[in-house]
Amino acid sequence: MRLDGHIHTGLERADYNLNPAENQENLMKGLKAAGLEGGVIFSVDPLKFSDWDPEKRLQDCLDTCKGQDNLYPFYYINPVESDFMDQVDMALKAGVYGFKMICTLYKPSDDRCLQVCEKAAQNGKPVLFHSGICWDGHDSANNNKPSNFEAMIEIPKLKFCLAHVSWPWYDECIAVYGKFNNAYFRRPEMSCEMFIDVTPGTPRPYREEVFTHLLQWSEYDLRYNLMFGTDSNTSKYNSAWALEWQKRDDALYEKLIPEDVEDFKEHVYCRNVLRFLGISDEKPEKYIPMIGE
Ligand SMILES: [Zn+2]
Repeated sequence: MRLDGHIHTGLERADYNLNPAENQENLMKGLKAAGLEGGVIFSVDPLKFSDWDPEKRLQDCLDTCKGQDNLYPFYYINPVESDFMDQVDMALKAGVYGFKMICTLYKPSDDRCLQVCEKAAQNGKPVLFHSGICWDGHDSANNNKPSNFEAMIEIPKLKFCLAHVSWPWYDECIAVYGKFNNAYFRRPEMSCEMFIDVTPGTPRPYREEVFTHLLQWSEYDLRYNLMFGTDSNTSKYNSAWALEWQKRDDALYEKLIPEDVEDFKEHVYCRNVLRFLGISDEKPEKYIPMIGE
């Protein structure tokens, strides 16, 4: 089974269909055409839909996923809103699988952001962050640099993910991953774990360079921590785009992964997403390089 770990509802406000049942139908059809069986669905962007109250934003996402075993709703939270912790409670109570955050107006180390992550971790829920330059219409680069996410290291049991391999800071993203891997070994009681979402952000011709750095030059074991995604959206799921990226990525995995590439792909496209969501109980044995090795 293959999943798309990064799907938006209402990515662009102007053409968003307000009927969740129709969006679900379109999405399931689009996923199927792209050889995918489900995915992670983010509720609408709180900045673009600021006139929707939190209940409406959540409900739209829940309704889009309703009755589908392989659609996993995530609540998109903006901790700058004064009632943000009430929103976290509301989303947890409704049974979301995790939280989506884009640090447009705050730093990852902002106390409000850390409070969300802490509460998510206490409830066994993951947090998926945008990382890298963001097409959000704001001055936000300094918030979205991968090294800022070191702030997560003090949150016990948190599973978090940096999307887009932090394009264009992919080397920094890889180094931060190495740090979290080392901390995972060094402080097992903390066991905060970082995942990387390879959703494009990378221009097509850059993909090979990014994957070469990630999978060959880094010498880090990424088999259990990469996830596939498309950044497509529910009301107009782009199957051609999803197929194109799978084809490109698959060819690169065949080229760059020396051992058991089928198992690698199974992890990137499915098993890592399920473990991130807390659905799978797989306990991977990761190779963790030490200083001086
Ligand atoms: Zn996105």
